[in-house]
Parts: sequence; structure tokens; C-alpha cells
Amino acid sequence: MVRRLIVYDFDWSMADQDSDRWVFEVLDIGIRRKMEDLESTVQWTDLVAQSLREGHEAGITRAQIESALRAMPFHPASKRAISNLKAKGETTFFCLSNANSVFISTILKEQGLTDCFTELVTNPAVWEESGLLNLRRRVDPVGPQHACKVGCSPNMCKGDELEAFLQRHGDFDQIIYVGDGSNDYCPVLRLRSQDTVLCRTMRGLSKRIEKGPPQCHVKYWDGAWEIEELYKTF
Ligand SMILES: [Mg+2]
Ligand SMILES: [Zn+2]
Repeated sequence: MVRRLIVYDFDWSMADQDSDRWVFEVLDIGIRRKMEDLESTVQWTDLVAQSLREGHEAGITRAQIESALRAMPFHPASKRAISNLKAKGETTFFCLSNANSVFISTILKEQGLTDCFTELVTNPAVWEESGLLNLRRRVDPVGPQHACKVGCSPNMCKGDELEAFLQRHGDFDQIIYVGDGSNDYCPVLRLRSQDTVLCRTMRGLSKRIEKGPPQCHVKYWDGAWEIEELYKTF
């Protein structure tokens, strides 16, 4: 039996949208525009936290946010690929994301995938009684910072988080990393020659891989049906 680990980025990798942006595209395009304007100057997790506070002050409710998340595009083939492979029993799934715990767990529950994932590592978020979603960086800005030189955002080094997961769960014969963004490049650099990155085409990760190929195999995909097709061969 092969001990296989599949690491999933969430936005545009497992799901077919970006949850942070989607929520405001559905509920308040004024806030969505402000995110676009501030993206280059404010750290992204802080910007989403600030946008959630502004939305709360403008009257956006918890129910509205949850409803927007449940309606977010999620390819049926992505859902089938994960649940069918999980049912075969040889694969551990790990979700590693720069979104947040509430957005992802709400969507995983809607898609019936919660139990497929051994761990979810992301930025922590909690619903306050007032209905505000309180979001924080995974790496607290006032504590010690990570030392990543590859370009991870201050809120989290995905490469460090992948290594910490492997420390907690032991080694795997094969690691597959499903990603799309430039922030997926750091963990991909930590993969070995027997591992594979499933890189979505035309996005930040593919650009970084072209400039600096990793040690692992690289397979490109465009739609989740290709992921399902590949998992059927396992
Ligand atoms: Mg992504
Ligand atoms: Zn890093």
C-alpha cells in the first residue's frame, strides 16, 4: 500500500473561485473595490479582516456571508475527485490555505468534504456574538515572524507549514500538491523527486515554476475534470 499525501491549496485550486474576494463581490462591491485599491499596500489577511469589519458595520450579517460561501463555484469534478479517492483509503488529504478557517470549513461542509481532510491549516477566524467574523493572521504580527526567503506573505509560510505537517504525521511515499498561486511555490520547492505538483495553468504558480523549476514532477491542469481523471489512475 502506498502512503500518499495530497496537499490542497483552497482558492482556485480545490474551489473554482477566491473566497476572500467572492464574499465581497456577492455582498458589497464598494468594499470589493477598496480591496483592489489597497491590495498592494496592506497585507492581504489584514485587508480581509478590515473588510469584514467594514462589512459588519455596514450591516452585512453572518447568514449573508455563509450564504455567499455556500453559493461559491466549486467544480463537481473536484468534489468527486476528492471523495472517491478518499473512499479508496490510501490517501491523506491536507488543506493548506491563506484564506481562513470559517470560509473553508463552511464550504467544505456544503460540499460534503469535511471528513475527507485530516487537517486544515489556515488563518484562524471566529464568529463573534455580534455577527462579526474576527480574522487574524496565522503568524501573529506581534510575535516571532517566519524566516521564509521565497516570498511567502507574513501571515504564513506554506513551506514551513507543510514541513510541520510532515513532522506531525510522519513521512509519505508520495506527496502531491495541488496549487495555483505564487504563494504555493515555497511548499512546492520542498517536494522531492518522487513527488508531483499539480499546477493550474496561467496563474502565479506556473509563472514561478517556469522561472525556477522545482525538484518534483510538474503536471499542468486547467479544469478540475483533469484532476479527477488523474486521481482515477491511483
Ligand atoms: Mg490559490
Ligand atoms: Zn515560505
